[in-house]
This record gives sequence, structure tokens and C-alpha cells, in this order.
Amino acid sequence: DPVTNLLLAVDGVTVDFDGFKALNGFSLTLDRGTLRVLIGPNGAGKSTLCDTIIGRVRATSGRVIFKGQDITHLPEHEIVRRGICRKFQTPGVLSGLSVVDNLMIAARRDRRWWCSFRQGVDAEEKARVADILETIGLADRAHIPAGQLAHGEKQWLEIGMVVATRADLLLLDEPTAGMGPAETSQTAALIRRLVGQHTVLVIDHDMSFLEQLDARVTVMHQGQFLKEGSVAAIREDADVAAVYLGR
Ligand code: ADP
Ligand code: MG
Repeated sequence: DPVTNLLLAVDGVTVDFDGFKALNGFSLTLDRGTLRVLIGPNGAGKSTLCDTIIGRVRATSGRVIFKGQDITHLPEHEIVRRGICRKFQTPGVLSGLSVVDNLMIAARRDRRWWCSFRQGVDAEEKARVADILETIGLADRAHIPAGQLAHGEKQWLEIGMVVATRADLLLLDEPTAGMGPAETSQTAALIRRLVGQHTVLVIDHDMSFLEQLDARVTVMHQGQFLKEGSVAAIREDADVAAVYLGR
């Protein structure tokens, strides 16, 4: 049933910054457990879309529906509580704490973090964090300070922290920023492992990364929907090529 599968609907959203429309009647729907990649030239409105979904930027008109409920006017913390989590381009790990403690804190985002240590860890929580460590490929780095991780590993830890929050919808804005080809491939594999249990919206424009993700691609341009299709179809699309070449 397509209706019950729907997790997120961005419905005709416009974001007007003093007369400049960063989003201009943009719509997008995401089904549960799917992966979508959002691309578009610089300034297309990709980050503004994420900001609007998470409630950091307010829609001038249009609606955002999550799990069948209108979240357009909810505060960010309430949207996060309902199951959306965003990862930013820059890693935001706590560098003095171990990898596993970073995940524990993320798993308990609704409590004061120092209580995490005082209350002790229950077995279920421990097992979940061990699972995430495997998924992000950092099981053998669990007890080193996060500050000692390589750049790519920090990005994976941050993705793990997003997963630890138990969010249904993960928004990953340029998860391969600053990565070489090997790390980029590992990131694609990591993200594919998350799909199913989570719904994932990835913003990126690295073509080899998109090919490895092998997801449906939505292209936006000047705050508007331009095209949607497979990576192969989008790569061959003349309209998409035109906006990237600035014609
Ligand atoms: P993208 O992430 O696709 O590169 P953004 O969503 O960051 O694009 O930005 C879309 C457009 O909106 C850009 O032209 C940007 O300059 C503008 N913009 C973004 N945030 C603001 C803001 N707070 N005030 C005014 N203009 C903004
Ligand atoms: Mg951006």
C-alpha cells in the first residue's frame, strides 16, 4: 500500500529569504526504508531543503508531512524527537571521548549526557551500540578517543551517531566531503547497510559515489524540482547536463 509506506512528503514548499526563493514550490516524497540522493548545482536549495525538513528554516508556504503528521511549524527539537536526524558536513564528534562513548551519548540524546555514565548501560543498549560499531566499521577502534580517528572515520562515527538516535529518517548532507576514492566507496557501502531499517536522504554530487549508491536521484535547480530517475538516466539527461554546465 503506497499510502502507508509514505514516510515524508514535502509538499509545494517555498522558502523566501527577503524576496529570494531558495525553495520555490518544491515537492518530494520518500517511502519508508528507501534511499534517495538529492543533487543540484551550488545554490540549488539542497541544504535549505534539509534545514526546512528539520525545522531550522521556516517554509513561507507549503507543508512538510512526516509519518502522516504536519510538522511544518514544529520546533526543531520536536521534529528530532519524532524521528528525523541530520548529519552536517563537518564532523561533530566529542574528540576527548572514546568512539563507543560518542555512540552511547547519541543513543541517549534525550537525557543529560553525564547521566549516561552514572546510570550504567543496559544490555540491550550495549548490543545496539555494538551493532552500530560493526555497521560503521569501527569495532576495532571502539575504545580510542574519537579525536584520534582519521577524517573519514570521524564521518562514519557521525553517521553512526545519527543511527544511534534511532531516527527513522536520516539526512546526510555531503557525507563524503574531504574523502578519497577508497573512503568514498566504504561510505557508499555503509549507507547501503542502513537502508531498509532507515530511510536515507543523501545530498552529494560526486558521480562515482552516486553510482556506488545506486539509488533514485532527484535533481533540483533554483529551488525547484528538475528531474527524478536512476543514476544512469540522470547521467545521460540533457536538461540535467545543461543546469550543471550553467546553460
Ligand atoms: P545548496 O545547498 O543547494 O548549495 P543552499 O540551500 O545552501 O544551496 O542555498 C540556496 C540559495 O539560498 C543560495 O543562493 C543561498 O545563497 C541562499 N540562502 C541560503 N540560506 C540563506 C539565508 N539564510 N538567507 C538568504 N539567502 C540564503
Ligand atoms: Mg549545501
